[in-house]
Amino acid sequence: MPQTGKLQKIGAVKQITSHSNPIVKEIKGLVAQRKLRTQSGLFVAEGLKLATDALSAGWGVRYLALGPEARDNPAAQKAAATAKARGALILEVSTAVMSAMTRKDNPQMVVGVYEQNILSARDIDPQGTTVWVALDRVRDPGNLGTIIRTVDAVGGSGVMLVGDCTDPFAVEAVRATMGSLFHVPLAKMTKEEFKALAKDWPGTVAATHLKGSVDYRTPDYKQPALLVMGNEQKGLEDDTAAACRTLIRIPQVGEADSLNLAVATGISLYEIRRNHLELS
Ligand code: SAM
Repeated sequence: MPQTGKLQKIGAVKQITSHSNPIVKEIKGLVAQRKLRTQSGLFVAEGLKLATDALSAGWGVRYLALGPEARDNPAAQKAAATAKARGALILEVSTAVMSAMTRKDNPQMVVGVYEQNILSARDIDPQGTTVWVALDRVRDPGNLGTIIRTVDAVGGSGVMLVGDCTDPFAVEAVRATMGSLFHVPLAKMTKEEFKALAKDWPGTVAATHLKGSVDYRTPDYKQPALLVMGNEQKGLEDDTAAACRTLIRIPQVGEADSLNLAVATGISLYEIRRNHLELS
């Protein structure tokens, strides 16, 4: 269990008005530093929607901080009751403390501290899944969050983080997922582990590549599919590309060298899932 403030009672309610309260400092640290998130296995997600998503998906919650507006909000009170029943410490804080914790002038009325959930390569069983997206050394938290959100929207099965990636539990990444973080499995692995998975993958393994010779609209994507995306600056490493059976390219005209990583992922995912999605 990660160490948290020493004096709090779990499953209790605590009023905090001081910026120097140790729990406020702990939350500030989790917002600001990857090292502290990694050591504690905790992360911060802002907002009532994310709290509702996290709780409905069964994620572990350590703290739920409620600003003044949350006290008269039935949905916030319901989230607090659920979190408290699961052993979280409920923090009633001033707007100033909420601002300080999240480093935002207009903070959300609810801020949660949750337990991280991340799979490893050996946890992934492709059988019965739809499409996984593998990201080679993704650097931008906004791109990562947007991709997680898009995978959720197309009914994808998860996101693999290959090599040295940005932290999916950074506040900016979590924010960009708009709650999908709590619904889309994430797995972290080395490049070698990824290449071994790709080699035995039972469906289509397609890597997007600027030198790809296959139009992304032509393959018959056999599911479970594995869509592989390159780093924002450097694209895919050669040996990672070589481990993928098809190199697909999205046609471009105009002067742009390439598409944004999250945009290219979205375009490809909608093509892969074309025959599985309909308006309801
Ligand atoms: N300079 C990098 C390169 O040479 O690959 C550009 C990388 S691009 C910003 C990030 C990733 O988005 C690429 O590695 C690829 O996975 C995908 N991508 C972007 N535009 C693409 C296109 N037109 N066709 C296929 N993939 C594309």
